[in-house]
Amino acid sequence: MGLHMQVIIALLLGIKRNAHIFIGLILGIVVGYFFPHNSYPQVYKILDFIGQAFISIIQMVVLPLVISAIIIGISNIGDSKQLAKLGSKMLIYYGIITITAVSIAALIAIILQPGLSAKNLVNPDIATNIQNYVADAIQYQKENMSQIFLDLIPKNPFSALAKGEMIPIIIFVSIFAIALSRAGEISRPLISFFESIFAATMKVTDWIMYLAAPGIFALTATSVASFGVDVFNDISKYVLAVCLALAIQFFFVYPLLLKIFSKVPPSKLYAAISEAIMVAFGTASSSATLPLTITCCEKRGISNRVCSFVLPLGATLNMDGTAIVQVIAVIFLIQMYGIDLTPLLIVEISVLAIVASSTCAGIPGAGLITIALVLNGIGLTPQQLLLGFSLLFTLERILDMLRTICNVTSDAVVAALIADNENELNHELLLGLNKEQ
Ligand code: ASP
Repeated sequence: MGLHMQVIIALLLGIKRNAHIFIGLILGIVVGYFFPHNSYPQVYKILDFIGQAFISIIQMVVLPLVISAIIIGISNIGDSKQLAKLGSKMLIYYGIITITAVSIAALIAIILQPGLSAKNLVNPDIATNIQNYVADAIQYQKENMSQIFLDLIPKNPFSALAKGEMIPIIIFVSIFAIALSRAGEISRPLISFFESIFAATMKVTDWIMYLAAPGIFALTATSVASFGVDVFNDISKYVLAVCLALAIQFFFVYPLLLKIFSKVPPSKLYAAISEAIMVAFGTASSSATLPLTITCCEKRGISNRVCSFVLPLGATLNMDGTAIVQVIAVIFLIQMYGIDLTPLLIVEISVLAIVASSTCAGIPGAGLITIALVLNGIGLTPQQLLLGFSLLFTLERILDMLRTICNVTSDAVVAALIADNENELNHELLLGLNKEQ
């Protein structure tokens, strides 16, 4: 049986184990379809309230979880050689996954040419103007890039914490954790303190999951209820290209990586994280799904040391699904406005998408906002592409839900790869899934 078929079967088995969440999801689609936002604003309001409340409740545990997990993760690793080894492995795997993602996305966008079907919507004068702007590209990009990196330095960690800016927080906490592990015995009480916080947040996550079915129901219903069906024709090829690229990544690339670099059976891993996959779909937020991703991975045999190091970092830095959408969206706009898509421009878009996706927060909609960085990089602003940009927003929520599945799954894949390479994967626990089903 092909790897992708094994993955599909494993997912179905995982869904069976979490049937209540799946039922919530299907009911959400049905209710959203029969109660469109425009005709039933009151129903929408109630569903939106429930959905937002669910997301807020999960987000409540994200900050304490990320901070405690990174501190435990790094201080558990101990010596600097081990830390460098794990850190570089993680970056290499995340790098391979993201570079593959943008390459697949660019290839599909070039073959399918999604922007051509929307080309007739653009006024030719506007298109000519826009083509002229591309000339300033390189200079603009250089100036912008340095500011982006400057913003990542946590000059006031408390302000970053209050604003929930994940990357500066992660940088500060990682440095702090390395210092703690160097400080020796004296840091033990503080590390124990964070171990207690971690244990308590995981407990709260278990409780929150009782709310998963109604939460996912409400979130899916509101997404479907606000569907922009009227413009579907103009962007159907864009949607197809995005879905195709995400599906290739999800069904072929991850299983293949697991096969090549580890002894982890892809089907077992997918079954193990199926609950997290459904929550990722419902919430469209990798950060909000993080507590569950950690729970699923740890319960199925990936060591706490690897999970607490790799998953919180991945939930913020590794956004291959987002990179896919950004590449296809920008190529869509370029084709729509008749800009010449040179090989150099494709490489530039791909590199910018890797940077933009890694600096993007794991929250709903962040990916399409950080696309501005890619556009600025090639000398355009979203305002200049107003029509095209607003078209992209019409089906944004659904595509966000799909790309978040990839963002979350690839984190778990990398955790499994590293755990297996480091002999920190309990294969019996992972393989034992079948017996429970
Ligand atoms: N919603 C995505 C995530 O949380 C980010 C994005 O908007 O692409 O992973």
